[in-house]
Amino acid sequence: MSDTTVTVPATGTSLDDIAALLDGASIVVRSAGNGRITHWTRGAEALYGWPRDEAIGRVEAELLGTEPGEGREAVDAMVAGTGNWEGEVQQRHRDGRLLCVRRRLIALPEDGLLSINHDISDLKRAQSDLAAREAHLRSILETVPEAMVVIDQEGKIASFSPAAEKLFGYTTDQVRGRNVSMLMPPPDRDNHDLYLSRYLATGRRHIIGYGRIVTGLKKDGTRFPMELAVGETVTRGQRIFTGFIRDLTSRHKMEEELRQAQKMEAIGQLTGGIAHDFNNLLTVISGNLEMVERRVPEGPARELIQAAQEAADDGARLTGQLLAFGRRQPLHAQLADVGQLVAHFSDLLRRAVGETIELRTVVTGSSNHAMIDASQLQNALLNLALNARDAMPRGGRLTVEVTHADISPAESGVRPDMRPGDYVLISVSDTGAGMTPEVRQRAFEPFFTTKSAGAGTGLGLSMVYGFVTQSGGHIRLDSEPGHGTIVRIYLPSAQKPAESHPAGPSVRPEPALPGGTETILVVEDEPRVRRVAVARLRELGYRVIEAADPNEALAIVGETPDIDLMFSDVVMPGGMDGDTLAARVRTLRPAIKVLLTSGYAEPSIAERGRSATGTWLRKPYTTEALARRLRALLDPR
Ligand code: ADP
Ligand code: MG
Repeated sequence: MSDTTVTVPATGTSLDDIAALLDGASIVVRSAGNGRITHWTRGAEALYGWPRDEAIGRVEAELLGTEPGEGREAVDAMVAGTGNWEGEVQQRHRDGRLLCVRRRLIALPEDGLLSINHDISDLKRAQSDLAAREAHLRSILETVPEAMVVIDQEGKIASFSPAAEKLFGYTTDQVRGRNVSMLMPPPDRDNHDLYLSRYLATGRRHIIGYGRIVTGLKKDGTRFPMELAVGETVTRGQRIFTGFIRDLTSRHKMEEELRQAQKMEAIGQLTGGIAHDFNNLLTVISGNLEMVERRVPEGPARELIQAAQEAADDGARLTGQLLAFGRRQPLHAQLADVGQLVAHFSDLLRRAVGETIELRTVVTGSSNHAMIDASQLQNALLNLALNARDAMPRGGRLTVEVTHADISPAESGVRPDMRPGDYVLISVSDTGAGMTPEVRQRAFEPFFTTKSAGAGTGLGLSMVYGFVTQSGGHIRLDSEPGHGTIVRIYLPSAQKPAESHPAGPSVRPEPALPGGTETILVVEDEPRVRRVAVARLRELGYRVIEAADPNEALAIVGETPDIDLMFSDVVMPGGMDGDTLAARVRTLRPAIKVLLTSGYAEPSIAERGRSATGTWLRKPYTTEALARRLRALLDPR
């Protein structure tokens, strides 16, 4: 409209003639003085709805409710100065509708103001709809977690959403106009132009479509897994491609952790089961050897027996480690300050790692209490220290730190096995060789070792893993070749006791084998194990009655008045376990003492191990251990 020029005809052509000539256009003429309408074309009738005879003579501003966007004074001033004005005004149709009108005002030489008017309401509405849609779209793009990248058909980045900036680490200014292949590592980076031109030429898709998992490249050089969905649109003859990108890093990590946890669970079940059966066999072997040994005089035969006994002891240690990994190791958990325990162990650790390695123990906070089996914790730290020593053949630094750690629900979210809460954190870090991803993946597996035969058993970390898990804690392993290793043990925090007990088990050396003459009921379903137990007890001087299962035991207790103690296996067939049997016996005869034995920490036993200790004995046991435990129970304190 701005180029519309109305030339006011020379004298001789009246205003009426012009209006008649341009009757189809929406032209209104009003008096400059009083603002009343003097001319009103058919075009104006069509635009405003007022017939000519109703419009003529009315004050235009009142009839049409004219509201110029920039204010009436400004318009008047413009017209007075230049004789011209052009702009948008808001007016009202006869039916009340608001109209958006593009208007040109021309001051006539004699009194009068001529206006030419165009209805642009539809255009305006379309424009504001578009703006609203655009704003809506922008607000979506700014909030969706998915990153969006739009490229043109040359592969140049045309737009980059805030989520994309966050994900890739570039600002929009740093990427706009550059080839999108900068966001990909090779080989996609080098092939992307080819994919694109091939697609444009042949329609053969390489990247178009849904849910492809590809690798992205961040500004800092890290690669990450991402899901890419690409859509295509044609605007003004040009194709544009819109890529939506979802970061899969944490999902992949979570799946990986879950797979790892499942693998460890399966191996744990297997080894725990084998170790349990094996323990029974070892109990029989070493029990019999022990009794034979005492009957054989000093000499070569006795040495043979001792060699066999030593082998059986090694076997028991091995099953012990396997049980530890399978979370079936009997634990004597007690409330203890982990910081104090670790400080106590530091001498031992220092001796274990040798002089070329500097050991640092850092305990933060004065109270880091947890329910923990102190001697097993010592074992675990020793295993970690030995691993660190092996990883630092030319020396280095081993740091053991104890602090408090608060795991938030958000942190536990990426670790499927980790519950949020308060933990005591023991970090053991070294400056050694570190592990490759392959080794790290398998390090906790029993018998996995990278050390030469004889140097490693592959049971160190698996013991630590089983022990920590069984104690209700979590273990994390971070290691990179050349960057050392850090093992983090999270133990659930416990409340500090009202009065403090001395931490850790006290091992008092005691002389000779204490025996006795009391009556003991032995309950054991495995006949060979039972025979060994009975023989050992008789050798110690006790009177022994045998039962092959819990029901038989109950019957015997009912008939025999003078039983002093029941020595029973925990896991037995026939629906009743040692615990239940013990409870029944106690109600029948509260005076009878009970000692349970198991090679296998059933969850219930592991639980009880944390509360009341000392009423059970771990298989395989030595005669000495059995003898002492019996006296501890039978002798009144
Ligand atoms: P072992 O020490 O008998 O080999 P472990 O279960 O203790 O068995 O460890 C398994 C494997 O994990 C080791 O053989 C070694 O490759 C790796 N490893 C464990 N701890 C470390 C460490 N601190 N630094 C480097 N590698 C380690
Ligand atoms: Mg080891």
